[in-house]
Amino acid sequence: MSIHPTPQHLEAAPKAAPILRVEGLRKSYSTPQGAIPVLRGVDFTLAAGASLALTGESGSGKSTLLHLVGALDDADSGVIILDGVEVTLLSEHARATIRREKIGTVFQQFNLIPSLTVAENLGFQARLAGRYDAAWQEELTHRLGLAELCARYPEELSGGQQQRVAIGRALAVRPKLLLADEPTGNLDEATGDKVMSLALDLVAATGCAFLMATHSARLAARLQRRVRLDAGVLAAR
Ligand code: ADP
Ligand code: MG
Repeated sequence: MSIHPTPQHLEAAPKAAPILRVEGLRKSYSTPQGAIPVLRGVDFTLAAGASLALTGESGSGKSTLLHLVGALDDADSGVIILDGVEVTLLSEHARATIRREKIGTVFQQFNLIPSLTVAENLGFQARLAGRYDAAWQEELTHRLGLAELCARYPEELSGGQQQRVAIGRALAVRPKLLLADEPTGNLDEATGDKVMSLALDLVAATGCAFLMATHSARLAARLQRRVRLDAGVLAAR
């Protein structure tokens, strides 16, 4: 495995260092009409065990920011440091490793693998990352209320059940950072609230940092901190 060397000044992160540090992040998309700037210098930090809601109008760049933090896309400039490693300097191969081992992601669309059972979906990413832990999967299964559903396939589940599986799958690797992009956007309010409660309990239990994009002020209020993306920069709110 060829991971680019970590710059020396990042090798031994101080104990109090945040799990995630984002500095001066810029991103524009090129379109036939020219470049559309979306992020114009985004800065924030997130400590282990901390939760942050990212709010903002539709189209303000929330998903773009999560994609960059999740190492799924490249920024134009700026720095992302995850667990002491400057992700923005890594090769694609090294970033894929970070993505697998340190980051769990939950999307609005659940994105379960249709041909795999609930139990197989739950363990899928952990197995890929070589981090499968049967006892932890068992605990996740019970805490997420999935014990009776293990042999079912995604198409046999409700939306709330599918999202519970997706949360378990993301946390099965014991990530340092959980990212969620409008995770309850496809659920009714009551179901979404229950799924959020389960996610927040598990985030607290694992001590991972949690960054969630949502346009709902009500959901954002359930996290420890809130920032708003407006005109390409973050404002505290
Ligand atoms: P949000 O998640 O807050 O709704 P997005 O990050 O999805 O916002 O989008 C921010 C802006 O970037 C929008 O104007 C959107 O149309 C544009 N955008 C997103 N992805 C692309 C892309 N791949 N190519 C061009 N424009 C894009
Ligand atoms: Mg979005």
